[in-house]
Amino acid sequence: MKFHQHAVISLGISGLLYLIFKSWALAGASLIAGVFVDLDYGADYLLQRGFPLRIKDIFQAYREDSLLKVRFLHGWEWLPVWGMAAWLTDWNPWITGTLIGFAQHLVLDKVNHGENFLCYSFLWRWKKGFKSEDIFMKSGRR
Ligand SMILES: [Zn+2]
Repeated sequence: MKFHQHAVISLGISGLLYLIFKSWALAGASLIAGVFVDLDYGADYLLQRGFPLRIKDIFQAYREDSLLKVRFLHGWEWLPVWGMAAWLTDWNPWITGTLIGFAQHLVLDKVNHGENFLCYSFLWRWKKGFKSEDIFMKSGRR
């Protein structure tokens, strides 16, 4: 799913959260997490290509599908971690909002791309060597 689509949907979900719970922390954390999970694209670029880190080059590498798909934030594994953290902090609004943002981001990516559920498992991608051709069966790019 594209960055601007995540931004619009995260803004809508955060607005709903604010209307229901009247918590800027919950809404803000959900918005930030829902959008910025995709920053791991930049981390992949930086770890594999190094500096300089330019947005144009990151998008080019994405279009070319030339990076390993580490994407450490794109993992279902984060949800139980954030869920446990939220529970242990008595549903702290910052942590709960982050959980909601992560969850909606991953679900939207999965639904929008229609790939195998496991494509959004960090551990499964690791087992596949983070190679796009072994992870994605359709277009090879996500
Ligand atoms: Zn994403």
